[in-house]
Amino acid sequence: MSFRPALRPGAPLLRRDATSLQVGTSPGVVLADRPGLMALLRLLDGTRDVERLQAHARDTIPELDCDVPALMRELLAIGVVFDSTRWSAPRRRGLDAEARHADLSAGDPARLVRRSDLRVAFHAGAAALPVVDTAREVLSASGVRDLDATDPHLLVIATCGEPSRTVFERPTSTGLDHLVVVIDEDRVRLGPLVRPGLTPCVGCHDLHRTDWDPAWPALLPQLGRHTGVLTPPALDAVTVHAAALELAVEVLAYCDGTAGRTTGQLLAIGPRHDERSAWPLAFHHACACDLLSAA
Ligand SMILES: [Zn+2]
Repeated sequence: MSFRPALRPGAPLLRRDATSLQVGTSPGVVLADRPGLMALLRLLDGTRDVERLQAHARDTIPELDCDVPALMRELLAIGVVFDSTRWSAPRRRGLDAEARHADLSAGDPARLVRRSDLRVAFHAGAAALPVVDTAREVLSASGVRDLDATDPHLLVIATCGEPSRTVFERPTSTGLDHLVVVIDEDRVRLGPLVRPGLTPCVGCHDLHRTDWDPAWPALLPQLGRHTGVLTPPALDAVTVHAAALELAVEVLAYCDGTAGRTTGQLLAIGPRHDERSAWPLAFHHACACDLLSAA
């Protein structure tokens, strides 16, 4: 097995006492010391493969007397050492921190290749821009490059107040995946993330709402009619950032193919920055959307 050993990301290498070393402090792993071990561990910056490491150690650490490949395999198994080749790949440039995070949290860094390929577009009203702009910064730092795609995989539709239902006509008819973001007074609602024909849509949402609010069909045509909301929303800066973070998380979940919290569900952030509420959204029997996939 050839790999490039790197010491556990972000973990300090410490001497614990005369006979033991410690890697990391959370809680850290204790290793029995032996001559040359500290010097060997200091070489583990992920730039040398095991063979080169062994040769380099032979030249520079004469007191070291151990089977370097076997020791590296042992340290890899207990999480003291990682394989830095998993953190870089031609299509994952600039994503080293993301890859180290995925590796440490038992994720798969290979999944990150989708980040640079993902095409996202935003359709946002002025009052939704603070949330959208902050989410775009997080997405950019997470390796999503195309946030102004003309031919997006995912369209984020963000408005202050429930949007006019006409904005969903085109994504629905063309089968474009879309994520709804509604700034609702003092909170931000995310969802549904609609994959037309595959997950419950805004039409399902409206039909369910009509089941318990008979006036909803009368309100629907009025939504989004006024381009400016009368009074701006009541969101403070930390709730805007919390909502933006959750929005970015949902887009990344979509990108990485992991389970998000806005598929078949609505997620609300606020009024306080650390408050979350969620409601399930099922297909509605009267909505024609699930026929799309059969068509
Ligand atoms: Zn539907």
